[in-house]
Amino acid sequence: MKVHKMFHSIQGEGYHMGKSAFFIRFYGCNLRCSFCDTKLPETWKEMDLPEIMDVVAKQSCKHIVLTGGEPLIQSGIEDLIHALLVEDYFVQVETNGTCDYDASSRYVDSGDKNLWFTCSPKPDSGYKINPHLLFAIKELKYIVTQELELEHIENEEGLLVWLQPQAGWEYSIMKALRLIRECNRLRLGIQAHKFWDIE
Ligand code: SF4
Repeated sequence: MKVHKMFHSIQGEGYHMGKSAFFIRFYGCNLRCSFCDTKLPETWKEMDLPEIMDVVAKQSCKHIVLTGGEPLIQSGIEDLIHALLVEDYFVQVETNGTCDYDASSRYVDSGDKNLWFTCSPKPDSGYKINPHLLFAIKELKYIVTQELELEHIENEEGLLVWLQPQAGWEYSIMKALRLIRECNRLRLGIQAHKFWDIE
C-alpha cells in the first residue's frame, strides 16, 4: 500500500468532528477533481499490512481514519480494514464512492458497528456511488460546486448528508444555504481543521 503520511490529529469534518483520530493518508486517486485540496507531492512509502499495524499499535488512539487520495484503490486495503476491525479499532474510511469494493462480504460479522464510511461523491464521476458500498456508508459529504443540484444528492432516510461549501467561495456558501432551505434534512458542514489550522 502506498502511504503518503500517518499522523495523529483531530477529525475536522462530519459526524466525528472534534474526535482524536489517527490518520493514514494514502497516495493516489482514481479521479482528478478540479477543487482537490489533497494534491500530494509524488512521495509515498510502500508499506505492507504488518508494517502499518505496527505503527497503529504504537498509538494511543482507537479511531483510525483511512483517507487519501482514495484509500480504496490501494491493493490490500480490505485486509487492512479487516485487521483493524478484528483488533477492535473504530475504522473510518473516507472515499469518493466509486471503487468496486464489496463492503458487505466480509464485515457484517466482524464488527460493522466499528466501520464507518464517509462518502464524498464527486462531479467527475457523475456523483455515482458503488451500490456495494451503501452497506457501510453512514454519512455523505457533497462539496458545493457550480454543478451540484438536489437531483445529484443521494437522499436515503437514515443517512447523514452534509453540504460542504468550498472555502473562500461566497457563491458556494450561498448555494449551500439555498439547497438546505429547499431540503431540510441536509446539513451545513465545515472543515473545522482549517479554522483550527491543524492537518
Ligand atoms: S476524489 Fe478526492 S482525493 Fe480524489 S481528486 Fe477528487 S477531491 Fe481529490
